[in-house]
Amino acid sequence: MPSRQLRCSTYDHTERRPAARLPQTVIAMQPIQLFDPESSTFTYLLVDPHSGDAVIIDPVDHQLERDLAAIRDQNARLLWTIETHAHADHITSAAQLIEHTGAQAATPAGCGIQPAARQLQDGDVINFGDETLTAIHTPGHTAGSMSFLWRDHVFTGDTLLIDGCGRTDFQSGSADALYTSITERLFTLPPETTVWPGHDYKGRTKSTIGHERAHNSRLAHRSRADFIALMDALHLPKPRRIDEAVPANLQLGVQHHAGADDSDAPRVAAGYAGDVTPELAWRWWQSGKGVVVDIRTNAEREWVGFVPDAPAVAWKQWPGMAMNPDFDAQIQALSAAHGGKPLLMLCRSGVRSIASAKRATELGLTAYNILEGFEGDPDSAAHRSTRGGWRHRGLPWRQN
Ligand code: FE
Repeated sequence: MPSRQLRCSTYDHTERRPAARLPQTVIAMQPIQLFDPESSTFTYLLVDPHSGDAVIIDPVDHQLERDLAAIRDQNARLLWTIETHAHADHITSAAQLIEHTGAQAATPAGCGIQPAARQLQDGDVINFGDETLTAIHTPGHTAGSMSFLWRDHVFTGDTLLIDGCGRTDFQSGSADALYTSITERLFTLPPETTVWPGHDYKGRTKSTIGHERAHNSRLAHRSRADFIALMDALHLPKPRRIDEAVPANLQLGVQHHAGADDSDAPRVAAGYAGDVTPELAWRWWQSGKGVVVDIRTNAEREWVGFVPDAPAVAWKQWPGMAMNPDFDAQIQALSAAHGGKPLLMLCRSGVRSIASAKRATELGLTAYNILEGFEGDPDSAAHRSTRGGWRHRGLPWRQN
């Protein structure tokens, strides 16, 4: 039986081996740079070598398994998922990383990413172990965009790219603001500062402030007026995934399934048996084809309501939404008690249920995610159960 203890090393301090065998100057003074070829996006993992505390910048949804493996390989504990801005070209894995690792999200306050635990202002500092990451508000690509300074490394998102810069023609972009951000905030950093961009399309990985200040073809030796004229004349095509990516990224990467069709077939999913609508889960349960498993906390079931007779195995637990260390044993016992029938995972809004279905699959069980969860996503007034979810769809539930 696979041990959950191994997997717990990503969030449980007590399980981690000390990583600091080498002098501090040798390890982890470089970020771990990861690349998504589909969107040409760089993701950065920064690890404090002494404590193993870590942060990740701009993770990509379909690279979740890669990133979890990188965190495990470092014996790291992920504290924060950080976004440089609300991306238009890919979807963040922040919500999923939070469910898998117990991390929290930190995002630029000006980006309007409401579910993030921390809304960053210019100059705010994120601590991880003995290390600090400082937010620098660098508007221009989007109004909320930030860069992040760690020691002599700066993570510039789509503000400053290698021999280029982010576009400024959508999402509250401004060439005027970008010029100020780059020339007055980034180019005033020490010239030897390493620049780690959010993207590169030509196989390059990093640069320095000094090099970009001297050679960046959009900015070096160019006046503000010239730069604005150049940016205005680019006429770039609309990003292919913007209509899907931006709304999802404003929810830390949760894709809204409200209004999902009532298809009788589960949707294909990566890493678990598939996604099912609340109605399909209910029908399968009624016909004995599967078991609805409530993986919310005891407190959620108590306060918000529950599905009568659905067995419960918490994925996380109050206080503090700590991971339930007995999840593996409890879900295996539950599966055995139901003759190995497919498990249909139900959580609040369909995020934790994905993480739990993946874990059950790793344990050799058949597990589906119930789309939308018990309450669905919040509407524009932050009210739940108005736009999808088990309750909204009129399926049986009760409150004590
Ligand atoms: Fe962008």
